[in-house]
Amino acid sequence: MRRSIECRCECGLEDFRVRLDREEQVGLVSCCHGHHSLLLDSRDYWAEVTQDCRPKAIKCRCGANTFGVQLDYEFRNDGEVRSVDVMLICRACRREPPYTTFDIDYTPTESLLEKPLDRIEEPWLRALRIEITAYWRPTDAQRFAEYLTGTLSARVLRREPDLKECAIVREDFRSEPVSDLYFSPVVLSKLPSVRDPEKFAPLLKLSSPFRIAIPGGLALLYYIEYAEEIPSGAQFEKQPPTFRSFSKNAADWLKAHYSSTRGPHTADNPEEYARVASIIPRNRRD
Ligand SMILES: [Zn+2]
Ligand SMILES: [Zn+2]
Repeated sequence: MRRSIECRCECGLEDFRVRLDREEQVGLVSCCHGHHSLLLDSRDYWAEVTQDCRPKAIKCRCGANTFGVQLDYEFRNDGEVRSVDVMLICRACRREPPYTTFDIDYTPTESLLEKPLDRIEEPWLRALRIEITAYWRPTDAQRFAEYLTGTLSARVLRREPDLKECAIVREDFRSEPVSDLYFSPVVLSKLPSVRDPEKFAPLLKLSSPFRIAIPGGLALLYYIEYAEEIPSGAQFEKQPPTFRSFSKNAADWLKAHYSSTRGPHTADNPEEYARVASIIPRNRRD
């Protein structure tokens, strides 16, 4: 059994600009009045998928970018939706670019038929994230890691290749490339398997240092990264209170022990920064 629906914005318009991520099966359609709607069940993953880049805006081969959107539903024997083909029809030349299929592997599915377009006011919200950079010696990184694991009783994780709890070892603090370390004040029931787990879970990341060649040696720039909010559906939620106080303590400790001469969100060892600053012209400093 199949059924087709022509998408219509709540204002009545049926012409849309369309953004689709075919792999992640999420899409956004926008009418010329600027009403945005998420396509089908895109809300479930929208914030997660769009944190680092926006799904591609679809353009017809004729150059036009306004489409009619037709949804072709295929049903299972029990009447639930199995999949939906998203067909676009160029309003300028009537051509139909290759369609995208949304596979549906859950029930119930009636909302996909009742509400194929799901209005969203602000589709491009970004989660609040913190990035602190630090010109350090390896011993500074070690001191910070020891503060997190000692005073703040954090657990340590690293990729092997999946995230795994581990102990820190002396080898973690060399000037050679070492593995990124993740710190958490809580036991994580589910470890994120994504590329940047610190964006999706209560984890503070201490990166392997960037090695910057300077006359007569090497400077090491460390990144400390964590999120204050994490994506949840098409919204964000605050990190759990334990992590909020943990990350605040960590940031306060960095402020108390290192220098922010280079700007907010920096925590340099002053001697290391002096070494770097003397060789980088003022207008090229970051
Ligand atoms: Zn509209
Ligand atoms: Zn066209």
